[in-house]
Amino acid sequence: MAGSAGSQAGTEARTEASGADNLPVSDRALHDRVFTLDTHVDINEGYATYRLDPGGFTRAQVDLPKMRAGGLDAAFFIVYVGQGTISPIGYEEAARIADEKYEAIMRMVRAYPDQIALATTADEVEAIHASGRRVALIGMENSWPLGEDLSNVEMWADRGVRYMSVTHFGNNQFGGSSNPNLAAGDPPEDPGLTELGRGLIRELNDHGVMVDISHVGKRTMLESIELSRAPVIASHSGVRVLFDHPRNLDDEQLRAIRDNGGVAQMVAFRGYVGEIDPALRAAEQALAGEMGLDTPEGREAAAQEVFDTYRDRLAELRASSGNDVTISDFVDHIDHAVEIAGIDHVGIASDFDGGGGLGGFDDATQTPAVTAELIARGYSEEDIAKIWGGNVLRVMRAVEAAAAR
Ligand SMILES: [Zn+2]
Repeated sequence: MAGSAGSQAGTEARTEASGADNLPVSDRALHDRVFTLDTHVDINEGYATYRLDPGGFTRAQVDLPKMRAGGLDAAFFIVYVGQGTISPIGYEEAARIADEKYEAIMRMVRAYPDQIALATTADEVEAIHASGRRVALIGMENSWPLGEDLSNVEMWADRGVRYMSVTHFGNNQFGGSSNPNLAAGDPPEDPGLTELGRGLIRELNDHGVMVDISHVGKRTMLESIELSRAPVIASHSGVRVLFDHPRNLDDEQLRAIRDNGGVAQMVAFRGYVGEIDPALRAAEQALAGEMGLDTPEGREAAAQEVFDTYRDRLAELRASSGNDVTISDFVDHIDHAVEIAGIDHVGIASDFDGGGGLGGFDDATQTPAVTAELIARGYSEEDIAKIWGGNVLRVMRAVEAAAAR
């Protein structure tokens, strides 16, 4: 059969190179048949303005041409606000930043209506995908911008937010973070959900917003699952058994997500997937310094060509070191999560433009390389379709149904 000949050729091609450029034709065909959804893509300063136009190939790891080139069908774009002070002034500032991020996502959708559209239900995701366009969804990272007024959940739900993480780094008014800010007075042990946090989970359930337990402390996470009457999502986390970082999920947490019917989206973030070789890290920092890209001001001022050169040299440095955290290490996390939680409860998040990326999967054009690695490890097309988006759509539908009740 042509199929088996194709897969033999594929095995050879893979041993030569694991990059998306050299993907066996049969792997790319499977990748293109499968609906692919990345559940965590950040957006940067100036997004969808003349400074960073997602309609062209940009310095961002995700833009519309890269999504098309990499066969990435859909992404959650993120309204992210880093944790600040828990006070009326802090809330006001947080809401302002959240509004800016939301507007940037909407600018992209409005600027390219023939290429991408916003989905707020699983059915809409499928309809937009069927129309040949990319699908944008909105997730909110950190609920801090809601302040203490839970009616803001409805406001954000009306705007299209479909998952919301309880916390980011540092505890907030709703609960404990996986990484408490001890300097700001957070206790070292996660105090769990506050009374307001319990209200938040109910509001999220009532308005069809997935409860996101990435970045959340273990106690707050388990209490959220206990309280939620709908499945939850870990929008971008790794597994702790493979790399012991507080951002990652231990096996008890993976089982809790399984038992809740939820989904754990494995994150392709070097620093959560594996140990970064200190010598390589130092060389990376030296390169950024040499090119004037080691400060926010330097990065803002740099011309596109400087970025292009930097990215090429960085990729070279990482590849030649032989010690980069790679796509293979990443898929180890997927394997383990599948082993513990089951094939119906695992997915993929890049965390691109928020620090994500690793060797072989460093921007959206390389999305097919993840599929190739899954094929190489024996996952069936049906399994891969679940991992790449089917599981998240199932969770979205369950969350929609729970809200309607
Ligand atoms: Zn994050």
